[in-house]
Amino acid sequence: MEKTFPSAGKLWLVGAGPGDPDLLTLRAARLLGSADIVVHDGLVGEGVLALIPPHVERIGVAKQRSRHTMKQELINELLVRETLAGKQVVRLKGGDPFIFGRGGEELDAAREAGIACEVVPGITAAAGCAAQAGLPLTHREDASAVSFVAGQCKDLSDQDWSGLAGHGRTLVIYMGIATATAIADKLIADGVSPGLPVAVIERGTTADARVLRTLLTDLGDLVSREAVKSPALIIVGKVAARADALDCLGAPGVAEKLGNFA
Ligand code: SAH
Repeated sequence: MEKTFPSAGKLWLVGAGPGDPDLLTLRAARLLGSADIVVHDGLVGEGVLALIPPHVERIGVAKQRSRHTMKQELINELLVRETLAGKQVVRLKGGDPFIFGRGGEELDAAREAGIACEVVPGITAAAGCAAQAGLPLTHREDASAVSFVAGQCKDLSDQDWSGLAGHGRTLVIYMGIATATAIADKLIADGVSPGLPVAVIERGTTADARVLRTLLTDLGDLVSREAVKSPALIIVGKVAARADALDCLGAPGVAEKLGNFA
């Protein structure tokens, strides 16, 4: 049954992909050109923002490395208010809106307010960054399951880490740089081999991307030694040894051990 909505406005929850503007969907690119207003978060790259025509109103709601981050409730209110005013509102988010993007909350707010809302998927960081690094997240020989997990939970014990990594599995950790050491310790305590390969991908798909490889036991040290900054992903599993990456030469024996996995 066709729904009727109180205004002609519409809200679009749009994925911007992992950084490289060439990885936008055609639908996302078209919407950026036809929107009345674009509300974007801090992860959306400059190259993507440059595609927004100058006459389109632009609101940044979360600047990276800034404390001026708008609360989610205020963002929801803003989106609903502008849509009810009859505008075509694009809510632009890094990666995919429904993977650690709070898109689900914004869709709930739209449904509650009775406004028209459509979701436009984006390439999530795991898929985009792994592809760029030549790292297959699944592989007939190495992994038939892959998990996406957030590493930034208030208390790491809120997350059940058991069974997420190890034989035949790939674990991709978003937002895990600050907690990398604790995550590695948890996984090893859960029985995951300390010698399992790990790849860390910083600012994947952008001009200054870095891909680093090491072993699980060395993950925390690698992150501090190389001063890895967010946004970055941690990929744990045998497939990580396939990444086209700089090996972490600082830790004794790592390069040779990684060679055994390749
Ligand atoms: N909705 C986004 C994820 C938002 S959570 C998506 O689908 O990709 C933010 C986290 O995503 C970052 O902390 C980082 O772990 C990851 N991330 C996003 N863009 C990235 C990039 N270009 N390179 C590496 N990691 C990235």
